[in-house]
Amino acid sequence: MAHIGFLWTPMLQSYQMRVLLYYKYITVPDPAAETEQHRALCEKLDLKGRILISSEGINGTCSGTEDNIEAYKKALNAHPIFCDIAFKESDHPTHAFKKLFVRLRPEVVTLRAGIEAKNAAPYISPEQLQAELERNENLVLIDMRNDYEAEIGRFRNAVTLPMKNFRDLPEHMPELKQYEGRNVVTYCTGGIRCEKASALLKAHGFADVRQLEGGIVRYCEEFPNGYYDGSLFVFDERRTMRFPGARKVTYTSQCSYCGVASDRHIDCTDDICHTLFVCCESCEKTCSGYCKAHQNVTV
Ligand SMILES: [Zn+2]
Ligand SMILES: [Zn+2]
Repeated sequence: MAHIGFLWTPMLQSYQMRVLLYYKYITVPDPAAETEQHRALCEKLDLKGRILISSEGINGTCSGTEDNIEAYKKALNAHPIFCDIAFKESDHPTHAFKKLFVRLRPEVVTLRAGIEAKNAAPYISPEQLQAELERNENLVLIDMRNDYEAEIGRFRNAVTLPMKNFRDLPEHMPELKQYEGRNVVTYCTGGIRCEKASALLKAHGFADVRQLEGGIVRYCEEFPNGYYDGSLFVFDERRTMRFPGARKVTYTSQCSYCGVASDRHIDCTDDICHTLFVCCESCEKTCSGYCKAHQNVTV
């Protein structure tokens, strides 16, 4: 029991870090210069994470101490272009990233479909979605994330797609055609992908499309015991995030070895494979972190 007590020592708790998730679509006149200035700001504040800047806006997720994250938010709010961002925040005992990447990119979210976020569908708020999920049978939720994200958590009865990259979304339009006449609501982690995904659906003739405002993060903050089952996949070292306030932990996935309910994603130890798969703690030890396809080739 000694080490359980150790986990709760105040010393460790004082190392609490904050993780930010945010985006803003806005015309950036000189994205190369903004990227350089932004990197300098993040380095000064000792932030780690992944921030993409393009002529269409900014897409970031980063971690830092509470004070530094507050200073960063303040700097962005005072910025002529990047002000008024709705930040999504969570806590973590350490940095959620190993390094800092601030990069100039052609798009803040890669779709390569000539789709602009300014043609996005209108928002539906978490409250409105909750109300409609209780009474609107013509509503259909479409998950715009990758298959490994939807595997460990998704909205009940949502349509999910077998894709590994968001840029593959245009290829899946034929599969989605059957929902054209429905009241479509798209969702993703924090909303950034839906700005383009909902515009893509509209361009393909979907008449009634809305996008979930603030994504799963905002919905689960307001309705931790609502229609979202399982955990949230996040693109940082946490991999999986649960929401405070959930009365019970639900699972939508199982350990690929023993079948126990689990939302633990690990990536295969094999240097070439690196496939993400669901694996419980005990099976991770038994298989030394290798996926089923590579387990037998280990020495
Ligand atoms: Zn297992
Ligand atoms: Zn493997």
